[in-house]
Amino acid sequence: MTELAHRTGAVNLGQGVPELDSPPALLAEVADAVLAGRNQYPPAVGVPALRAAVAAHARARYGLEYAPDGEVLVTTGATEALASACLGLTGPGDEIVTFDPCYDAYPAGARLSGATLVTVPLAIDGDGFVLDSDALRSAMTDRTRLLLLNSPHNPTGKVFTPDELERIAELCVERDLTVVTDEVYEHLVYDGARHVPIATLPGMRERTLMISSAGKTFNVTGWKVGWACGPAHLIAAANSVKQWLTYTSGAPYQEALAHALDAVEDWAAELRATLTTHRDMLATGLRAAGLSPYRADAGYFLQADIRPWGFTDGLRFCRELPGRAGVVAIPTSAFQQGVDTTPWLVRFSFCKREDSLTEAVARLSALA
Ligand code: PMP
Ligand code: GLN
Repeated sequence: MTELAHRTGAVNLGQGVPELDSPPALLAEVADAVLAGRNQYPPAVGVPALRAAVAAHARARYGLEYAPDGEVLVTTGATEALASACLGLTGPGDEIVTFDPCYDAYPAGARLSGATLVTVPLAIDGDGFVLDSDALRSAMTDRTRLLLLNSPHNPTGKVFTPDELERIAELCVERDLTVVTDEVYEHLVYDGARHVPIATLPGMRERTLMISSAGKTFNVTGWKVGWACGPAHLIAAANSVKQWLTYTSGAPYQEALAHALDAVEDWAAELRATLTTHRDMLATGLRAAGLSPYRADAGYFLQADIRPWGFTDGLRFCRELPGRAGVVAIPTSAFQQGVDTTPWLVRFSFCKREDSLTEAVARLSALA
């Protein structure tokens, strides 16, 4: 879809690539680190200052304690942490349970490890997406090895509620499951919704590998610096794979991000305010164009129902949209693994400049 946007000159509200600025001090620090010669392999598990900053962030924000040595691993983006977790913790014959729709790295991670991905559809309730805990329970078998939980969630913008997290945690404790979480949108939560890491719930820290990344928090998706926190045995399992995938990750970025993470709260508050405005602009524009957006409490994306335009197939809609309206979106079916019960959902991203959103909304409205 990004290629289609380039080819057609459409406004690209497809891939979640931010058009927003990064903290200037962070950019200057990377340049300084490069010029200061921090250009050789850093320690395989990550630069000590970044591991310390990741641990301090987990403590200050969530009250979670991780030892920088042994319980924190720096990775090449959250993507490598997710792949390393799948490969290090599962193999052929194992099942990984996650929710549908899901980020497309999860089926890929399962396929790499030879495990089977079992998906549990999120139910639609009113204008949002909710957990069906009976469906989750039914998806668990004797072969289930881990639960992959993405909250805040891509592609829906859902934040799992404390009550939903409790129900998931109870099931994981009961079945003695390992949980791998993808929390890359942890700072991008709007309207007073709160992100609660499942590792903070009773009985969960010792079974949870908590993954995040700098890309979304600082608008530096091209740097590919991520990390995982967890008990030593889970970190060791992930590291046994990471060692041979990439060995280590970009040194100057890590140095600079250690300082940025220490000062993340003010920056994140500003970014949330911007993204809230952008989400509202897009939602209002989609509504005005006759497409019905669902509520998004977090992240970069809005889901829209395309049936008011007479479409039932999101893929067809997204293939035709650049030609008709000069806008690119992504069919939610790209994130669906099981039976596609909602082929009429399409994902629009709002992590874009204001002028991109204004132009996209004007183009969509002109067709309405
Ligand atoms: N998880 C989710 C839910 C995402 O949306 C993304 C997209 N950027 C990633 C992981 C990948 O993160 P990274 O770029 O840090 O590998
Ligand atoms: N996470 C972003 C998205 O969901 C982009 C990353 C990717 O395309 N791999 O669109």
